[in-house]
Amino acid sequence: MSYSAANGVSMKASRYNSFVDLSSADGILIFNSLSGALGRLDVETARALAQGLVPSQPADTLEHLAAGGFILPADVDEQHYAETNLISACFRATVSQAVIAPTMACNLRCGYCFQYASHDGVSMDRETVAWTQRFLKGLASSSMRLDVLWYGGEPLLAWDRIREILHEVRPWCESRQKLVSSRLITNGYLMSNAIVDEMVELGFQAVQVTLDGTSAVHDNRRGLKNGGGTFERIIDNLAYAVHRVRVNIRVNIDQANAHNLPDLHEFLISHG
Ligand code: SF4
Repeated sequence: MSYSAANGVSMKASRYNSFVDLSSADGILIFNSLSGALGRLDVETARALAQGLVPSQPADTLEHLAAGGFILPADVDEQHYAETNLISACFRATVSQAVIAPTMACNLRCGYCFQYASHDGVSMDRETVAWTQRFLKGLASSSMRLDVLWYGGEPLLAWDRIREILHEVRPWCESRQKLVSSRLITNGYLMSNAIVDEMVELGFQAVQVTLDGTSAVHDNRRGLKNGGGTFERIIDNLAYAVHRVRVNIRVNIDQANAHNLPDLHEFLISHG
C-alpha cells in the first residue's frame, strides 16, 4: 500500500511503524509491518513519526515516506485495510501454501531453542506421509500453484519423507498443469551436495540457513547435540548450495552476538 503525499493531502503516521535505534550517528531504522518497507531516518524525523505526527520535511521526503507506507492520508483506515487484505489472502485461490514439519527431531542444541520439548526424535510415520500426500493434493486441486515450506526440528533428518511426499505429489500436480514449489528452513549441517542436487530436481526454490556469527560465536550458540561445532561444515555445504538454489541467511541476534555481525557480514562477502 502506498500513497502520494502531493497536492496538500492531509497525512498521518502509520500505526504499523516500528523503530530501532542504531546510534545517534547512524540514525534510526524504521520498519512498516503492513507494507514491509524498511528505511533509515534521522532522529528528529523518527521521533515525530513515533509520536504519530507527520514530520516537517520537504515534499520529496514525504513522498518517500508515503511510498513506504510510513505516512498515509489521514482518512484511510489502515486497520481495516490490513484486515481486508488478510481475509482476501486466505481465500485467494491462485496459490495454496502449506507448512510441514516432517520431524521435530534435531541434530543441534541451540541454547535459545524453544522447540526442545518437541525434540523427541519422532518423524512422520508411513500413515502420516500418505495422509500428507492426500492433503497436499486436496489443497492443490483448488489452486494454480502449491508452495510448501518444510521446517522442523531439522527437516533434513527426515529427508526421505520429504522426498517420498514430493515424488507422489509433484507428478500428480504437474499432470493437472499445477506448479509445485518448495522452500526449506534448515540448520544446513546435513545439506550435502547430493541433497542439494535432489532439492533442485524436486523443485526447491530457496533454503534458509542460520548462521549466528563467525566460527567461534556460531559454534558456541549452535553446536551439535552431541558436542562439536557446525560452522565449518555448514559453510562447506553453502559453498555448493549457493550455485544451485537461492540461499537466505538468517541471523538470530541478541546482546551476546550483536558485536559479531559486521565480522560475519565481511566473512560472507569475502566467501562470495
Ligand atoms: S537448529 Fe533449530 S530446531 Fe535445532 S536446536 Fe537449533 S533452533 Fe532448535
